[in-house]
Amino acid sequence: MNFPNKPRGTQDIFSSRALAYQRIQKIITKILRNNNYQPVIFPTFEAEELFTKSLGSATDVIHKEMYIFQDRKGRELALRPEGTASVARLVLQNNLIKEGYPLKLFYWANMFRYERPQKGRYREFWQLGAELVNSEGIIADYQVLKLMSDILISLGISDFTFNLNYLGNAQTKEKYKNQLKDFFKGKETELCDDCKRRHSTNPLRILDCLNCQKNFPYPSYENSWDKDDLDYINELNQILNKFNFPYQYNHRLVRGLDYYTGLVFEVDLGTEKAVLGGGRYDNLYQEIGDKNIPALGFAIGIERLVDFLEEKKILEIKNYVDVFFFVCNSSAYLDIFLWKEALANYQLIIDYNLEVRKSKALPKIIEHYQPQLLVIIGEKETEVNKILIRDCLKKTDFFVEKKIAIEWILDYFKINDRVN
Ligand code: AMP
Repeated sequence: MNFPNKPRGTQDIFSSRALAYQRIQKIITKILRNNNYQPVIFPTFEAEELFTKSLGSATDVIHKEMYIFQDRKGRELALRPEGTASVARLVLQNNLIKEGYPLKLFYWANMFRYERPQKGRYREFWQLGAELVNSEGIIADYQVLKLMSDILISLGISDFTFNLNYLGNAQTKEKYKNQLKDFFKGKETELCDDCKRRHSTNPLRILDCLNCQKNFPYPSYENSWDKDDLDYINELNQILNKFNFPYQYNHRLVRGLDYYTGLVFEVDLGTEKAVLGGGRYDNLYQEIGDKNIPALGFAIGIERLVDFLEEKKILEIKNYVDVFFFVCNSSAYLDIFLWKEALANYQLIIDYNLEVRKSKALPKIIEHYQPQLLVIIGEKETEVNKILIRDCLKKTDFFVEKKIAIEWILDYFKINDRVN
C-alpha cells in the first residue's frame, strides 16, 4: 500500500490494548483522586531550555534523545521527554504553591525520546506521573512509596519489590562521584563509547548503562553515606518494616536523570526494564525558578505495565458488546431507540445494525460483535409482541414479552457477570 507508515518507535494502540490503557487509567486515577491528587495537563512541547536546565546536560535524555525543533520564529523547542520539569514550570508559572501546604499533582501524558526502539522502549510512550510538591521529610517519602504500592495492588499486582537507594545530600553525591572516578582510573578504555563520554562529563550516569553494568563491580553507594544519611535510612526502614513494605536496597541505583537528591526508587516486576521509577528532587525548583521547593515524584511507564498485565493474564479485556439488537424489520428501530434510552444509565455496551438485515447474516454479525446478549426483533416476533433474546455465552434462547424487555435485560446482568 502506498502511504507512509507510522514513524519508527511509535505505536498504533487499538482494540483490546486501547481498552486496557483506558481501564488502567481509570483504576489509577481513582487511587490518586482518593489521595487528593489533582490532575494537570501541560503542553506537548516546551522551551528546550526547560529540559536542558533541569535534566542535566550530560544525561542521555538531553544529550541524544530529545526531539528538538525550531518553530517558524526560530524559537528552540522540545517535545517533552518527561513530565517532572513541565510540572515544575506549570507550578512556578501559575504560582500554585501555598506556603506551608503540600501540592499533589498528577498527569497522563505521552513522552518523546529518540531511543533505539525495542520491546518496552519506544520513541513515543505514555506515562502516568505524580508529584508531591512542597514537601520534605520521611513521612512525605513514605506517603509516596505507599501510594505507588496501592496503585500496583489496585491493578492486581501483588508480587513486587521496591528497589531503593539514597543519594544523600550534595556532599554525599559528590563523594560518591569521586569514588566512582577513582574506581574507573585506568579502566576508561574498557568502557563503552557512551560511557567514555559520561566518564568525563558525569560519571554517575555510567551506572545507568546496562552494558557496562555487567562488566564492572562499581563501588557501593553505602560507602558515601554520612551520619545524617544513615539516620534517615534507619528511620525510613523502621517505618517500612513496621508496615511490611516490600523493599530492598540497590546501592547502585542512581536513575537516569540528574535532578534526583535523596531517596530514589524503581520497580522492575522481574523484567530487565523498570516499570516505574522516581525519587526526591529537592533542587529542581531552584534550578528552574530560583525557588526553594522540595518535592518528590514518580512515573509509571504504561506500555511496560500493560505488557506485564497482559503477559501475566492479570488484565484480559475482550472487545465484547453487552447487548446487540439484530434488526430484520425496519419498524423495530423505533423500539430500539426507546430501549437504548431506557438502558442509557446502566453502563452497558449496546449496538445494533444500521440497515435491516436478513437472518442469514446473523452468524457473521455474532462473530463480528461478539455480543453477550443478542436481541432479535423480526417479523414473526413482532406479530406476537415478543422478542427473541439469545444468551450467546450459554447458547440459550428466550422468548420475552416486548414490554418487559428492559427489565429482563437488566435482571440478566444483575445475575450474570458482564464479560467485558
Ligand atoms: P523515567 O522518566 O526515565 O524515570 O522513566 C519512568 C518510566 O517510564 C520507566 O520506568 C519506564 O516504564 C517508562 N519509560 C521510560 N522510557 C521509556 C521508553 N522509551 N519507552 C517506554 N517506556 C519508557
